[in-house]
Amino acid sequence: MHDDAIRENTARFSALTEGRVMAVLKADAFGHGAIARSVLESGATSLGVTSVDEALALRATGIGAPILSWLNTPDADFETAVRENVDLAVPSVDLLYSIGWAALRVGTPARVHLHIDVGMARDGCAARDWPTLCALAREHEALGAIRVVGVMGHMSCADDPGNPQNTRERLVFESAVRTARRRTLAPHILHLAATAATLTGVGSGFDVHRIGAGLFGIDPSCRTDMLRPAVTLTSRVVSSREVSAGTGVGYGLDYVTRSRTNLALLPIGYGDGLPREASGRAEVLARGRRRPLVGRFSMDMVVVDTGDDVLRPNERVTFFGPGSDGEPTVAEWAEWAHTIEHEIVTRVGNRIPRIHRTIETASQSQGAMS
Ligand SMILES: *Cc1c(COP(=O)(O)O)cnc(C)c1O
Repeated sequence: MHDDAIRENTARFSALTEGRVMAVLKADAFGHGAIARSVLESGATSLGVTSVDEALALRATGIGAPILSWLNTPDADFETAVRENVDLAVPSVDLLYSIGWAALRVGTPARVHLHIDVGMARDGCAARDWPTLCALAREHEALGAIRVVGVMGHMSCADDPGNPQNTRERLVFESAVRTARRRTLAPHILHLAATAATLTGVGSGFDVHRIGAGLFGIDPSCRTDMLRPAVTLTSRVVSSREVSAGTGVGYGLDYVTRSRTNLALLPIGYGDGLPREASGRAEVLARGRRRPLVGRFSMDMVVVDTGDDVLRPNERVTFFGPGSDGEPTVAEWAEWAHTIEHEIVTRVGNRIPRIHRTIETASQSQGAMS
C-alpha cells in the first residue's frame, strides 16, 4: 500500500472541499487495510463505513475521530455503537426505533444522520415517507433517544455531470433538509457528495464530502489525473518449466502454446480475488516486461508465458500497480475483467498480506499488496 499516495490524495480532496472530507473506509478501506491514521493525518476530519461492526473495529484500533455507520440491519449492535460514540444513519422508521431503543437503554442520545433517497431507490428513506420519518425523529429527540446531527443523500449519476438527474437529486436533497428544519430538527452536518459528485461538483459544497474511491486514486468520473493509485499487487514465482509448441495449459487446455516457450507458475488465483473473467486477456510485469497470463485462472494459481526467459523461483512478478514501471494498472485489470476499478481492489482476499510502506521489500508470503 502506497500510504504516501493515499495521504496525497486525501490532502487534495481536503483542499478541494476546504477541509470537509469524510474518508470512507468501508470494505477494509477498499481492500487497502489499515490506513485510518494516514487519512486523518492528511486532512480527513471524520470516517465513514457501512456497518457498525466496521465502525467498532476502527474504534478498537484506538481511532477517536468521528465515525459514521450508514448501513445496518435493525438487529445491529447499536448499544455498543452509541457507547462508542459512533454516528448512525437512519434510513427508515424501523432503524429509528431500533437505534432509539438502544440509546435509551444506554442512557445517551444516539447521534444520527437522517438518510434521504434522492433518486436511486437503493438505500435511504423514500421521499414520500420523509415527513413521517422527520416527525418521528423529532419525537425521539424529545424523549432523549436521539439527536439529529446530519442529513445525508447519495447520488446515482454524479460521474456524468451533464445528466439532468443530478439537478433533480440535489433539489430532492435540499427539499428534504428544508422539511427536516420545518419539523424543528436542526441537522448541521449535510452531505450529498461522494468522490464523483465532489470531482464533478454536482453534489459538492455541503458540510461534508464522503470520499472513498478517490482516496485510493480511483476517479469514477474519469475527469482528472491528479489522483495517485495507491496499491501494488505482487507475487513470486513458484517454479518454471519449458514446454514445446502445442502444449495445452490449465483447465480445459483452452490455451495452446504456438511455439516452444517457458511457463512460470504464480501462487495467486481467483480465490485471492484475481477476476477469472480476465483469463485470456490479463498481463503481468515479469523481469521488466509485460507477459500474458495464459490458460484459465485457477483458484490458487495462474500461469504466465515468459517466452525465452526462464523465471527463477522466488522472482517477483507484478499484477498491478501505479503503472510507473510498466506494470498493468488497476484500470487495465478492470477493463480485462469487464468491471470497475473498485471491484478489482476490494476483492483481493485475506491470503494476501497488506504491506504499508513506500519502498518495496521482500516478503515471505505467496503474494503481497504493498
Ligand atoms: C461507498 C459510498 C461512498 C463513497 O463513494 P466513493 O464513490 O467511493 O467515493 C459514499 N457514500 C455512500 C453512501 C457509499 O455507499
